[in-house]
This record gives sequence, structure tokens and C-alpha cells, in this order.
Amino acid sequence: MTKVFPGGTVAVDDVNLHVDHGEYVVLLGPSGCGKTTTLRMIGGHEFPTQGEILLDGQSLVDLPPHKRPTTTVFQHFALFPHRTTLQNVEFGLKMHGVKKDERREAAMRALDMVGLVPLADRKPNALSGGQQQRVALARVLVTKPKALLLDEPLGDLDRLLQLRMRVELRNLQRQLGLMFIHVTHNQEEALSMADRIVVMNDARIQQVADPLTIATKPATEVVARFMGDNNILRGVVKAHEGDRLIIEGDEQHLRVSVHAPGDGRAIGSPAMISVRAAAVTVEANGSGDGLNSAECEIVFVEFLGDLVKLHLLAGDERMLAKVGAEHYPSLRGREGERIRISWKEDDVQLLDA
Ligand code: ATP
Repeated sequence: MTKVFPGGTVAVDDVNLHVDHGEYVVLLGPSGCGKTTTLRMIGGHEFPTQGEILLDGQSLVDLPPHKRPTTTVFQHFALFPHRTTLQNVEFGLKMHGVKKDERREAAMRALDMVGLVPLADRKPNALSGGQQQRVALARVLVTKPKALLLDEPLGDLDRLLQLRMRVELRNLQRQLGLMFIHVTHNQEEALSMADRIVVMNDARIQQVADPLTIATKPATEVVARFMGDNNILRGVVKAHEGDRLIIEGDEQHLRVSVHAPGDGRAIGSPAMISVRAAAVTVEANGSGDGLNSAECEIVFVEFLGDLVKLHLLAGDERMLAKVGAEHYPSLRGREGERIRISWKEDDVQLLDA
């Protein structure tokens, strides 16, 4: 589907996506990439300029939000402050004309799902942020949607609560077996929660894959940069050696080999690769032929608790290495010194420009 706003902004450009029942999909991308507009079109809060949205074969585009089998959870889990937990949850059903007894029973079931039955009579100001969020979820679940749409659902919470809610939300989704489509700009949140991540940039999909693939095999430069802590090197193809390409960096004499069976690019043509910072080691295990290793200056040794991030300069190229915290005692205070880094050919990823 495509969405062009009046004035000509193309917010969503030919986005095509299939989501399964029971699947947890996260739309991830920088601010303004079109992820919220995509979600709003699925939920019925925005109409596509072009395209179709189907759920179980039924077209949704002409249905208003409350007639769709989808429910949206907005960033601000706005609860009615003067109503109790139970009344807040019942509210959605009241709007659908469900009778009082039935409403109460369904609301109590939904509260049970999120573990809040003991707090049914409390008002929102007597609940913690996490509890309020669970009330908001119960209020959504009570209407039995086929798909739950979540727009930055953890955005407002403090970090510790965010970490807890990630697990709670993901667990709840597994128990319910519902389709969740979740929008965030937070890479870590996407990696920790999704079955599949859809990385968007500039109104388009860049890559759709499971979290491990997104983290270790970014398909494009944009994904490699957005996910962070990837070393991205530009160079030219120097040779083909069987299934490998040998690439030499533009800026210095960094030489990299990458497994690329069937890649037919010509000698001398440009190529771009990425290597995760976590795949770079400071142990001497280079292949000995000068490939996939570099002599660097240590610019900064950053201790991050469970790991050490080394900020390095290989010629003019800034590079990052992330190594285990056990290396900290031997790396501390060594800024300005030189060090040899290396990585395995399997950890080199050829990027689409
Ligand atoms: P954020 O994380 O900041 O919410 P996003 O990835 O969700 O960003 P969208 O909100 O989908 O991005 O916006 C995509 C583009 O469409 C942006 O350029 C935005 O300015 C534009 N846009 C969004 N809503 C409207 C609107 N109602 N009218 C005109 N332009 C809009």
C-alpha cells in the first residue's frame, strides 16, 4: 500500500507485507520513516492512497476503526481517571452495546489474563505505570480483536519498567496466540520482542527478517547503520577466488574477503561490506594473509559493564570492536596504543547500496 498526504509527502511507498495469525511483527525505523502511518492504515485511522489491506481475505479499507477486527493501543495508554480498573475495561464493550452482566464477566476474564483481578476496584491514579498499561491492554483484549496494533507501547515508561513490560507483553502475546503489530524506533526492543522485524526507511521497507538475521546479516547499508555497532566499509572488488570476493577498502589498505557465491560483479566495481562490532576480536586469529584484519589505533576504551567497546582508527577509517568484559583489565588506559583486530570471513556481510 501507498500513502501520499495532501501536500505531496509520500509517507508509505509501496509497502507490501504478509503477517500470520499468532505472529509478533515489529515495524522498526527512524522517526518519519512511515511506520506509524502504516499502522494507522491497518487500524483504519488513515486511508491508503493506493493498495489493499486484507484480513482473512476480507478487505478492511472501507471499514471504520471500530468495525475492524483490529484494535490499536496508542502510546499514551489513556485510561479514564474517574473510572475503576473494571469500569475502564468494560467501557469498550459498552460502546459495542454488550449487556451489563456479560460485560462484567468478559471484563473480569480480561483482567484475569493480565493478572489484575485483585485491583479491579482501583482507580488509575492508585496503579503503577505498568499496572495502568496492563489495564489498557485488558481493555483492548476484551473486544477480542484478531490483531493488536501497538504504537510505541513502551515509549513513555522508565527503562526498568520498559524491560519488564517487554517480557510481559511478549509472554501475553504467546499465551493469547494473537497477531501483534508493534511500532518502535528502538532497535533493542524490536530485537527482543519480534518474531519478525520490518525495517523501514524513507517510506519503504528495507528488510524483513527474524531478529537474528537483522542483527547479524543486515541486507542494506541503511539497516546496517540503523541497527548500530556495525563497521561499514566501502571499497572495490579486487579479485574473485572461487566463491569469495576480495574487496579492498577505499581509504586504506584494508582487505576483506566475503563469501558471495554467484556474485558476478566485475573487478574494480564498488562494493560495501559490514562487520558487526561484536564479531571483531582483539585476539591474533587473522588468516595470516592480511585479509580480514587491521592494525588500529585505540581511540577510546569504553567499559559497558558486561562488555568493552573499543573505538578504533584503521588509517582514516573509524572502527568499533565489542569484546567481553574480561578483556577490560588488559585494555584499560591503552588509548593511543596500536592493536591488531581481526574477524572471520563468515562475519562479513555484503551490503546492497
Ligand atoms: P515517528 O517515529 O516520528 O512517529 P514514523 O516513522 O511513525 O515517525 P510517520 O508518522 O508515519 O513516521 O510519518 C511519515 C511521514 O509522513 C513523515 O514525513 C511525516 O511528517 C508525514 N506525515 C505523517 N502524518 C501526516 C499528515 N497527517 N499530514 C502530512 N504529513 C504527514
